[in-house]
Amino acid sequence: MGNPKAFLTIHRQEAGYRPIHERIGDFTEVEQTLNSSDRRTQASRCMDCGIPFCHWACPIDNKQPEWQDFLYKGKYKEAFHVLQQTCDFPEFTGRICPALCEKSCVLKLSCNEPVTIRENEASIAEMAFREGYIKPVTPVRNGMKVAVIGSGPAGLTAANRLNHAGYEVTVFEKDELPGGLMRFGIPNFKLGKNIIDRRIRLMEQEGIVFKNNTKVGDNVSAKTIATTFDAVCIAVGCEVPRDLPIEGRNLKGVHFALELLGQQNRKLQGIAVPAKELINCKGKKVLVIGGGDTGSDCVGTSNRQGAASVTQIEILQKPPVDHNPATPWPMYPQVLKTSSSHEEGCIRRWSLTTNRFIGDEKGQLKGVEVEEVEWSPATDGGRPEMKKTGKTEIIDADLVFLAMGFVYPEQNGLIAELSLAVTSRKAIAVDPATNRTANTNIFACGDSVDGTSLVVKAMASGRKAAESIDKYLNSK
Ligand SMILES: Cc1cc2nc3c(=O)[nH]c(=O)nc-3n(C[C@H](O)[C@H](O)[C@H](O)COP(=O)(O)OP(=O)(O)OC[C@H]3O[C@@H](n4cnc5c(N)ncnc54)[C@H](O)[C@@H]3O)c2cc1C
Ligand code: SF4
Repeated sequence: MGNPKAFLTIHRQEAGYRPIHERIGDFTEVEQTLNSSDRRTQASRCMDCGIPFCHWACPIDNKQPEWQDFLYKGKYKEAFHVLQQTCDFPEFTGRICPALCEKSCVLKLSCNEPVTIRENEASIAEMAFREGYIKPVTPVRNGMKVAVIGSGPAGLTAANRLNHAGYEVTVFEKDELPGGLMRFGIPNFKLGKNIIDRRIRLMEQEGIVFKNNTKVGDNVSAKTIATTFDAVCIAVGCEVPRDLPIEGRNLKGVHFALELLGQQNRKLQGIAVPAKELINCKGKKVLVIGGGDTGSDCVGTSNRQGAASVTQIEILQKPPVDHNPATPWPMYPQVLKTSSSHEEGCIRRWSLTTNRFIGDEKGQLKGVEVEEVEWSPATDGGRPEMKKTGKTEIIDADLVFLAMGFVYPEQNGLIAELSLAVTSRKAIAVDPATNRTANTNIFACGDSVDGTSLVVKAMASGRKAAESIDKYLNSK
């Protein structure tokens, strides 16, 4: 602990976002960064608590007090050395992790000014790239091969760990480029794709082979993979979006969120999108259904495309501001979140269910009928109960984006299909202790096992799968 009194005298300082009038005109990252002197001052606020709740809350077990102390002392190389032991890609988590650690920081409890951890993590990673602390390593090969299916954060973490352990790793990816939802889901204004490219280049230099545009079960058979590789790691994500099968669902203008987000990211990447599929929000009234992060990303994207208005509705009640007694410290607080996208212009409403989409005679969406709902605590202590109130209204809309989450992976059957093709056993069940399926050499991780989650949780899952694969292949 560098400065034992800093937490008493120095306030939390965030770098903040670029001004709205500037950022709304582009898709470049909105978040700024502090200069290195302010950054180190922020690191000095860490109290090195006897029980570091930040460490407890971090799914990848980052040792925040240790690297904060090195950062405070200007020892970037040492800070990076500690950070990389637990975090394979701090340049990703440092940008887009919701910072579960900060919500559990003791200074969050005592004065609502937690230590800046996420931003410090990004700054250590960027310094490490800039100063050349991150260099390609050449692992000693052990003669065994592993296939990783899917190149999101889970697959990339598993591939990285296994490659460093000496396995020859091939990553199969059905999309044009690696990165999973970080590439074609999360908007560039949250995570620049040059950051992913830089990491993929490094992984390629270290020997990992990426086979893009290669869908397992389609372009390459699962059987081929089974006979070529000693172990398989399934990291195919959780891709089936939850639909809203109500009247008017087939009208022109009703889309899943990822149709908008995926094609916007592709356009920025220079990948052609077929003209008939193009969605353009310019001058349109946009309604986003779903109040979560994916919905917020649609808000930011619609505004950047020049939407006339953007409204986001949520079926649940408006969460409390600042403090929620249902999620006391050090739990992650379920409170109102206002993202950079919300700040840029958006009407937000809660406790609204969607009854029907209304179209014109040409089959084009023109409005959505919504109805107010009331929530009451469940009598049996389970999930709260919803009641429709009969108070309906029409919200004008030319475009709707459905951002209501994803169907749980067991239902989309991908894991089952893949393992059935590999070994003729339908191994849906994944042992949570080892991330191993009922087939001995097939492992699975990330959203494909846990359902829609977070980048940092997918990375934790990928790491666990890599450890289990290493253990299994070592024991053979
Ligand atoms: C719009 C949006 C915004 C988000 N924002 C954030 C955020 O800000 N912070 C955060 O922490 N989390 C965020 N998340 C969640 C996070 O992106 C996911 O939890 C995480 O990417 C899951 O990682 P994964 O590796 O398990 O799966 P994915 O990232 O989904 O990657 C799976 C990959 O497998 C590939 N694949 C699938 N089937 C096959 C096949 N048969 N053959 C070959 N390849 C295949 C897919 O193309 C994909 O590239 C967001 C999610 C969405 C949808
Ligand atoms: S990965 Fe997320 S939870 Fe872990 S230290 Fe970084 S910001 Fe905090």
